[in-house]
Amino acid sequence: MDSTDLIYIENLKKAFPSKDVRGNKTLVRAVDDVTLSIKRGECLGLVGESGSGKTTLGRTILRLVEPDSGKIYFDGTDITGINMKPYRSKMQIIFQNPSGSLDPRMRVFNIISEGIKATRRGMTKSEMSAAVFKLLDAVGLNSTDAYRYPHEFSGGQQQRIGIARALAVNPEFIVCDEPVSALDVSYQSQIINLLEDLQEQLGFTYLFISHDLSVVMHISDRIGVMYLGKIVELGSCEDIFLRPAHPYTKALLSAIPVPDPKISRQREHKVTSFDDTPAGIKNGGCSYCALCSYATAECAKAAPENREIATGHFCACHLA
Ligand code: SF4
Repeated sequence: MDSTDLIYIENLKKAFPSKDVRGNKTLVRAVDDVTLSIKRGECLGLVGESGSGKTTLGRTILRLVEPDSGKIYFDGTDITGINMKPYRSKMQIIFQNPSGSLDPRMRVFNIISEGIKATRRGMTKSEMSAAVFKLLDAVGLNSTDAYRYPHEFSGGQQQRIGIARALAVNPEFIVCDEPVSALDVSYQSQIINLLEDLQEQLGFTYLFISHDLSVVMHISDRIGVMYLGKIVELGSCEDIFLRPAHPYTKALLSAIPVPDPKISRQREHKVTSFDDTPAGIKNGGCSYCALCSYATAECAKAAPENREIATGHFCACHLA
């Protein structure tokens, strides 16, 4: 951890009880010994298939889910196990499903002013109205929208309301949990551009979670690739897109559609299936063993260390 880190997590673990195919009790390691830093003012993209643990990791950092072990630091302070009240306004979340995350019985004005009231007490009515209208303007909505209900808006507009609500408490760190995956393609780039503009103007730090690498690449400074609870590769956007080192990252890249069929055919790494039982885990080996076309005998026996293979570029693969 250094002074540029706003968020630092160390050996974070979170497991949930589950049952295997035979009905025996087992544990799903949603976050499995993750150590990670998020620099002040950066956007760290977190990408992986559904079920890889991205959302659990984001929520555990916010302490909406309690970790089983490990440490979470916010701006140098260990916030693991402490009362989160002083930190709730500093750390916010934008949810995947905007319609489900907005109270349908509340007008937009009340949805946004709730947050403002929580952090700025003693405002007059006109000051509150001005603050709400300013936030609506910041997210590209009109002041007249304040008096409407969430169901009167499109999905993209509802997400704008969700963003305004998150901004209302003046946060420093925002977890964007698949913020565009429930939206039509036409709205996705608008929301990404809005989040980028807000970050530029207000200096937020983002953890941007998505299952789609092509979405993450537009907004992220660095990208972490998550597979079965572990960060298997971490690096700059250039590292991940131009010099991917982990076979899983290559498989995710191969799944991004390209318009040229020639390039598509030349791709070596195909995503086969992510539903297979990861045999490597049972044997203490690499968790990607069952799907990896490069797996060797060593891979099945020993889990790879997450090593720095170039400056700032980390990969957990024996062959990297
Ligand atoms: Fe594949 Fe082996 Fe690397 Fe795991 S350690 S990703 S099985 S090559």
